[in-house]
Amino acid sequence: MHRPTLSIVVPCYNEALTLPQLHARVSAAAKAEVGEDYELVLINDGSKDDSWPIMQRLSAEDPRLVAINLSRNHGHQLALTAGLDLCAGEQILVIDADLQDPPELLGEMRAKMAAEQADVVYAVRRKRDGETFFKKATAAAFYRLLDRVTDTPIPLDTGDFRLMSRRALDAFLSLPEQARFIRGMVAWVGFRQVPFPYDRAERFAGETNYPLSKMLRLAFDAMTGFSTKPLTLASHFGVALGGASVLLLIYIAYGFIRGNAVPGWTSLAFIVVLLGSVQMFVLGMIGEYLGRLYVESKRRPLYLVSDVAGPVQGTAKLGY
Ligand code: UDP
Ligand code: MG
Repeated sequence: MHRPTLSIVVPCYNEALTLPQLHARVSAAAKAEVGEDYELVLINDGSKDDSWPIMQRLSAEDPRLVAINLSRNHGHQLALTAGLDLCAGEQILVIDADLQDPPELLGEMRAKMAAEQADVVYAVRRKRDGETFFKKATAAAFYRLLDRVTDTPIPLDTGDFRLMSRRALDAFLSLPEQARFIRGMVAWVGFRQVPFPYDRAERFAGETNYPLSKMLRLAFDAMTGFSTKPLTLASHFGVALGGASVLLLIYIAYGFIRGNAVPGWTSLAFIVVLLGSVQMFVLGMIGEYLGRLYVESKRRPLYLVSDVAGPVQGTAKLGY
């Protein structure tokens, strides 16, 4: 198999209006960097418009264009996964089809990767033009909340626009989970990852394919894929309720001793308070086990080798 120096992977959903412009700008940026030694991988994610015929036409004219048509709309993260799985390059650039991420930054990103000997150069949005206040506000809130609840540090304000080395990509591809939050998974992989600040432009044409429902879906995938904190919430409630119920029980007992409690109220209140906190606590315990079970069931690799010195046996198996 020939490995081109660079693969550019672009998931596309209803991007017919942008495709010709995307093709021109991405090809120009790639040629300026690596000459002819690149491939452009376009994934048609079950578009409802003319994206696929346009891709076919473009690929007939351009031998460096690989177009992949998915069976249906699988969503951004899975479309991107398909492209990453099928690309062959030594370096891989992931970019959105809508030209919000300027392909012309490729040169600077490659320079940064070389200078810092990085495996991943991820673009961090400095400002976002042409996006609604709502989108920016929800995105900002989401990234910060995510940062608080996840155990893997996931960089803030980072999308899927990034340059990756082959070994980082292969490591990423070894994560088999269904519910994919790619930027988190790439962060999980590790190696040397450096940020690259840039200004995000407006969409070139068409409109966002990420309505609120898809954003929520992605947010849930991120939360549940990288955190078991929601599951352990019940045990925190249990402990808090347990503490509060001690005070409550003292108050109830005090009322009983003073003799100003309605008959039956004391025992009833005791039962409600005690059972409530015990139930919460037990639910929390189940959550803790379930959380661990969930993490195990993902069958992620336990470690990934970064460097190998000398002709160590078994490196071929590692695939580096
Ligand atoms: N996309 C996709 N499948 C989908 C939705 C989106 O492949 O179901 C692609 C889309 O064509 C674009 C990228 O994912 O290249 C990001 O989508 P969009 O620009 O709509 O998201 P936003 O930039 O508004 O977050
Ligand atoms: Mg976009």
